[in-house]
Amino acid sequence: MRVLAIGECMAELAPASEPSDYRLGFAGDTFNTAWYLAQLDPDIDVGYFTAVGTDAISQQMRQAFVDGGIDDRHVISVPDRTVGLYLISLENGERSFSYWRNQAAARLLAQDAVALSKAMDDADLVYFSGITLAILDPEARGTFLSALRKARSAGKTIAFDPNLRPRLWASEQQMTDAIMQGAAVSDIALPSFEDEASWFHDADPDATADRYAAAGATTVVVKNGGEPVRYLHDGNRGTVPVPTLSEVVDTTAAGDSFNAGVLAGLRGDVPLAHSIARACRLAGKVVQGKGALVSIDPNEIK
Ligand code: ADP
Repeated sequence: MRVLAIGECMAELAPASEPSDYRLGFAGDTFNTAWYLAQLDPDIDVGYFTAVGTDAISQQMRQAFVDGGIDDRHVISVPDRTVGLYLISLENGERSFSYWRNQAAARLLAQDAVALSKAMDDADLVYFSGITLAILDPEARGTFLSALRKARSAGKTIAFDPNLRPRLWASEQQMTDAIMQGAAVSDIALPSFEDEASWFHDADPDATADRYAAAGATTVVVKNGGEPVRYLHDGNRGTVPVPTLSEVVDTTAAGDSFNAGVLAGLRGDVPLAHSIARACRLAGKVVQGKGALVSIDPNEIK
């Protein structure tokens, strides 16, 4: 199985041992999912599509892709731009985030429609998120959605995490409209109930599943933090319990890693409920570690 994840990876500066020291890393929702997919199953060929600059940090980011077992051959380089950055501040154990991403090269990832289509041609499964849509201007978003529509007609499976981030959008209406346009080109939707309830006013996870199914997704998996996962697959509903954890350290990338667990099950036709159970075991490990990228032993969560 060949997977292409599309979106923005950012440079991350996280607090290190001394208050004035920061550790450089790389993370971003779709990249995190690609990273976990590559860790879970070496037989899945994982590629990432984004745009970076031509400067040193852009090169370091590409190297991070390769080090994570992710193919960077479709990554576009945009001269005079660089990658987006966020910095994590810690105050009394609480994390807060500052972002510098408005000029990030990734915002131009759909400017070359030919490169985009070519990258999708090489994949069986294409994965994107609401953040991928949010960073594109309306015209580029149109180009991107057309490329997905074409890939889907050509038989590719399209998977989408709505990942609602109102701060990245000009208005709530623009966000909800674009998210449902993303849903309309997707086979698999992987929403998180809390966000969906906030912005689409869904009464319960089944309402979320119904809305994405009505938009055209054949599989909808609704994450809900520590609560059971509800799914709707080919018209059949089900529930998968989430294992109770003695301690939750950091929920960064809980949903991203969960998505990787679900998508990994598409190789070998694993029943959806089994893939979801595995996704919960993986996300359970991730929330017990610090940061977005937590090293895992795939055998432990099989
Ligand atoms: P997102 O990060 O997209 O908001 P969720 O918070 O719904 O996603 O979490 C995704 C998955 O992570 C859940 O389905 C569950 O498997 C795991 N998870 C998250 N929070 C907890 C928790 N408090 N206890 C156990 N598992 C959790």
